[in-house]
Amino acid sequence: MFSLITPWALGWIAGTALQLQQPQLWEVAVYWFCLAAALVLLCIAWRARLFAVAGLQVVVGFALAAVLAFGQVGARASHYAQGVLNPKLEGHTLHVVGVVANLPQRTEDSVRFRLAVESARDADGIQVQLPPQLLLGWYGNRWNGPSGQGMGVWAMRVPMWLRWFGVVLVLPVLSWQTPRPAHGTFELVAADMGQGHAVLVRTATHSLLYDTGPRYSAETDAGQRVLVPLLRAWGERLDRIVISHQDSDHSGGAPAVMAMQPQADVLTSIASVHPLQQLGRMQRCERGQSWAWDGVRFEVLHPSATDYERKLKPNALSCVLRDSATHASALLSGDIEAAQEQELLHNGHVQPADWLLVPHHGSATSSTQAFLEAVDPSIAIVQAGYRNRFGHPKPEVMQRYADLGVLVVQTPLCGASIWRSDAPKLVQCERNQRQRYWQHVS
Ligand SMILES: [Zn+2]
Repeated sequence: MFSLITPWALGWIAGTALQLQQPQLWEVAVYWFCLAAALVLLCIAWRARLFAVAGLQVVVGFALAAVLAFGQVGARASHYAQGVLNPKLEGHTLHVVGVVANLPQRTEDSVRFRLAVESARDADGIQVQLPPQLLLGWYGNRWNGPSGQGMGVWAMRVPMWLRWFGVVLVLPVLSWQTPRPAHGTFELVAADMGQGHAVLVRTATHSLLYDTGPRYSAETDAGQRVLVPLLRAWGERLDRIVISHQDSDHSGGAPAVMAMQPQADVLTSIASVHPLQQLGRMQRCERGQSWAWDGVRFEVLHPSATDYERKLKPNALSCVLRDSATHASALLSGDIEAAQEQELLHNGHVQPADWLLVPHHGSATSSTQAFLEAVDPSIAIVQAGYRNRFGHPKPEVMQRYADLGVLVVQTPLCGASIWRSDAPKLVQCERNQRQRYWQHVS
């Protein structure tokens, strides 16, 4: 259960919880010291490359987050407490002008409300500074009486024993985890990351990432911007990464994803002399490779060993992966084109699949009629960029899918999409699930 919680989050909760247990606030200097110490520790850990060692990273992350949270929460509270009311005003008569900021709460013998302060003066008419809001109360059933006296300014403080319930309230955070598919089923998450491919495949206890999305510029890519945050938020630990081919709309996010998931092995068609090979150990994807995770079978259908010797262009070497469970299957086709589709058909490697990743983002070079009829999908996903410069997906290709009655889902319109093998006719669009105030209208 705890493996899904990052050491930073745990440390932050621990530091905050500890701070909330303080019966009274410490000197501000203590908190500044804590913050400075955390920063110094961070620098030392960074320079000593401690973060490269997984076990130590957990301890250092936890400790730093705890100290930072302790310091920050305390410093803020202390700063507020010291600045909220000037001690020199104590015992003096003040004339306060303001507006009642909420409906007064009335009980049998008291009334209380918030007052938004507009101005305040002392008995000599000199302006004084008060907090922007005061919580005011009258007690002793004098509210309706002729002399409205007994006004007090008070701040509620939670009794010590009650504060421990705060710890109980944060426990659900620790026990939360992203639900996983049942044994014998799998789930596909087609990320929304622009012009490229990236599909997360999840089984009961394993995860695979098919392609890593595009590189956006020299500084940033879909790995940093979309996939690493997604994997972190869901607590995913990838077992395998498949980089279908070397083109940057499929391999652009690989450096960030591989750095985040060093334990994952990599299957790819990228040539051994390509610079991306320096990212870490990669194994060739090749027809005939297969494995089973949690009752789900995975097979590489393309390219064959001889394809590598034919000096084909990168698209034609795309790793094609078939995932199959008892009742449903999916085909991840990379950027294969008409020739590869024909070859797969010719060699008898195409079987029907419920979910198809539309080859080459819906380019006119792919999705041939015979191939589509053989795959016969219920749902086809186009991962392409909004108004991309290639004009993907091509209208004539979309027409072929429409004629066959296939439901086509496009990431520019649907956002990320989620499909589950135990409900193969359904697909869920994140753009519908989590609507924003701003909407794409078309
Ligand atoms: Zn592509």
